[in-house]
Amino acid sequence: MPSGSAVWTERLEAAAAWRRTQGLWRERNTLQPGLVDFAGNDYLGLKDDPRLAEAQAAAAKRFGAGAGASHLVSGHLEVHEALERRLAELVGRPRALLFSTGYMANLGTLQALCDSNTLIFQDRLNHASLLDGAALAGARSRRFHHRDFNDLERLLGRAPAEAAKLVVSDGVFSMDGDVADVGGLAAVSARHDAWLMIDDAHGIGVLGAHGDGCVGHAHGVERVPVLVGTLGKALGTGGAFVAGSDALIEHLIQFARAYVYTTAQPPGVAAASLAALDVLAAEPERRQQLRDNIHYFRREAALLDLPLGDSFTPIQPLILGEGRQVMHWAARLREADLLVGAIRPPTVANGEARLRITLRASHSRESLDRLLEALARLHEEAAA
Ligand code: PMP
Repeated sequence: MPSGSAVWTERLEAAAAWRRTQGLWRERNTLQPGLVDFAGNDYLGLKDDPRLAEAQAAAAKRFGAGAGASHLVSGHLEVHEALERRLAELVGRPRALLFSTGYMANLGTLQALCDSNTLIFQDRLNHASLLDGAALAGARSRRFHHRDFNDLERLLGRAPAEAAKLVVSDGVFSMDGDVADVGGLAAVSARHDAWLMIDDAHGIGVLGAHGDGCVGHAHGVERVPVLVGTLGKALGTGGAFVAGSDALIEHLIQFARAYVYTTAQPPGVAAASLAALDVLAAEPERRQQLRDNIHYFRREAALLDLPLGDSFTPIQPLILGEGRQVMHWAARLREADLLVGAIRPPTVANGEARLRITLRASHSRESLDRLLEALARLHEEAAA
């Protein structure tokens, strides 16, 4: 019998060997100076805006570097309250509740709403945090084919009428960039008396008439009772929120363990998010510039015959299939000072490894052309 610590050594070595032999070893990345970032989620170029940093510093001086406690103890500050009000307004809901990350918002919400008697219906391509939240709640997730209402309808039709049912979908799918048909999901959910939860992490700030996302004012709280948004992507800061009815928010304050048992977000981060919302409202041209960049990139990529997915959002997947090929392309792009995401299983399905190219309002035409030229060269080499 190996001793306890030998068991652990063996376990870690076996897991590492498995990952390496599959060619799926993960590396962390730092954005080095000189690299053009086509990997991050800072779609509006707000992350480096000096107005956000100034608001952050001013709030840190006024309220402290940290919140000092959880929201229910003494960490719920004026700036958190103000941010929650502004976020609720942004998406046209009565209330919003701040979480420290989007991962925690999804975990906390599903855990607080569901139990082993709840039936959860998830799009097959939903974010990992939604699957993990269902697991934490002890609820089983039935997964419907990606954006397929017939399949969802079939699964809902089999469920007992009296069961509590929750349909869950990403708004913008994080690895594909396509958008859920929220109106369709809401109609199917209503027919089966199910609640609908949309995680619009990548839609907030980008989609909608005012950057209110793919749900926002277009689909009210009665159609989408549970709406999640994140602040670490288009808004350039960090953290997340859940928006909905007063009853939903009060329930989460009582029962969401990822809300209750953690330190509130540092006040400077909340203040920076408020500044980001000001810029979002004052400078709609950022969203227009982003749309122009997406349009230009897709038009040029089509002329080059690049295998892009069907996405009109800033997330543009280039599906290559094999993990090794993705790593090779990403390394070559890096040599040309271009950073793109190399996405492999288990994040996506086997055979669907891809470059995840993300576009930003602040990308220059010249940077886009450099990326397109480099991709065209790699595409030609692969075909040769
Ligand atoms: N939901 C989706 C769809 C996401 O893509 C992400 C981030 N990868 C999250 C939730 C988690 O958000 P956060 O990074 O704030 O934890």
